[in-house]
Amino acid sequence: MTYDYDLFVIGAGSGGTRAARVSAAHGARVAVAEEYRVGGTCVIRGCVPKKLLIYGAHFAEDLKDARRFGWDVPDCSFSWPTLRNHVLAEVDRLNAAYTQTLTSHGVEIVAARATLAGPHDVALSDGRTVTAGTILIAVGAHPAVPTCAGHEHGITSNEVFHLPEVPGRILIAGAGYIANEFAGLFHQFGSHVTIANRSRDILRGYDVSIRDRLLQISLMKGLDFKFDATIEAIERGGDGALAVRLAGHDPLNVDCVLFATGRVPNTSGLGLEAAGVDLDVHGAVVVDADNRSTCESVYAVGDVTNRVQLTPVAIREGQAFADSVFGGKPTRVDYDCIPSAVFSHPPLAAVGLTESQAKEKLGSVKVYASDFRPMKNVLAGRDERALYKMVCDGETGRVVGLHMIGPDVPEIMQAAAIAVKAGLTKDQFDDVVALHPTMAEELVLMK
Ligand code: NDP
Repeated sequence: MTYDYDLFVIGAGSGGTRAARVSAAHGARVAVAEEYRVGGTCVIRGCVPKKLLIYGAHFAEDLKDARRFGWDVPDCSFSWPTLRNHVLAEVDRLNAAYTQTLTSHGVEIVAARATLAGPHDVALSDGRTVTAGTILIAVGAHPAVPTCAGHEHGITSNEVFHLPEVPGRILIAGAGYIANEFAGLFHQFGSHVTIANRSRDILRGYDVSIRDRLLQISLMKGLDFKFDATIEAIERGGDGALAVRLAGHDPLNVDCVLFATGRVPNTSGLGLEAAGVDLDVHGAVVVDADNRSTCESVYAVGDVTNRVQLTPVAIREGQAFADSVFGGKPTRVDYDCIPSAVFSHPPLAAVGLTESQAKEKLGSVKVYASDFRPMKNVLAGRDERALYKMVCDGETGRVVGLHMIGPDVPEIMQAAAIAVKAGLTKDQFDDVVALHPTMAEELVLMK
């Protein structure tokens, strides 16, 4: 049986693009369908534009601090449309670069919505049906929006990059990655920010000491937090303001509500049942360690599988799929010790086990910490302390977790994660002479 393509990829995000490009380089005849824009969540409405906004937001404090460092900085004003438009232009550039990468590898891009019509059949919204020996589902996820009355008045991370102006008052629902990152951003841009979460925690899954430090610093900066606070209703008043009713709390008037309450796999209406592809209770495609679904010819990578919703993981999965299926080099992704960061203000980063996870897993655990005020903050008169925490196996001294909050910690963590993944011990960290004066030197000086 011959098919139109060896591989048909649905979704040109981080995972799908990598899988398509590498499979084509291995000699496969590949097409990729994308219904929106090549690049996916990370490039178009996620990591990349978010990080550019973070750079933009940082100037608010940097310009203030500059005066303490002797610079005569006049009062500066901020133009959101200028930053927004520059960021969106960069997104356009990357979108074109991703498209170019695919076509230069001989991948056919189909600008249409694709759905499965069978184990080897793909129906396209332009009316065609095509066949492929292997089909890869890489359609990602979309923001979950709670079903409270008036939820349609809120926005999500999809819309936030296009706002006409910075809201004077913003309520952010959720206290995870997106909530904390955008809380920091909008605060720096001058908004009054309130975070409302259904539970009592922020950033569940991160080490409790680091989360507490972010909460303290955020409160000190003037952000408001409401815990055990589920949104019951949102109403738009005559003046355009939004009246928000929160369970167990006083009502609130704001100019914008941003839902940052998790993401849902994009599997609805994709025809997966037609091919015998099983979904889990969250609607994610069930796959094995080789990214293969319950249908032999259908694979899935990235957020649609709801394993680890991080871009570099989706890229690894796409690469492993391509190398295994078309490159004759069976490869599996190693999910151990994946470093992660939250670009909050200040940022935090982690790799490995939290203190409580380590205690549960290992029993005997030793914890070292460095709680310090970065030199730059001291001169700037900024009362913000950084915290680095190292969790070690009590028996062997092996570092099993590293958790940090403070300036530039995501940059520091990428390098430190190599040592943690390699299984180095606290003694081996301490064998390295400190690089002075840096913040990162605290990694080899922890008590
Ligand atoms: P998160 O999973 O990080 O946080 C979700 C938040 O919403 C939690 O506070 C959770 O509360 C709350 N929540 C979940 N469901 C509901 C609900 N039904 N009603 C009300 N509140 C709810 O999700 P995000 O949306 O912030 O981000 C999505 C994913 O995108 C992240 O998990 C991450 O994988 C990825 N991402 C990564 C980034 C990075 O690497 N820097 C940046 C942005 C996103 P509770 O505390 O009770 O669980």
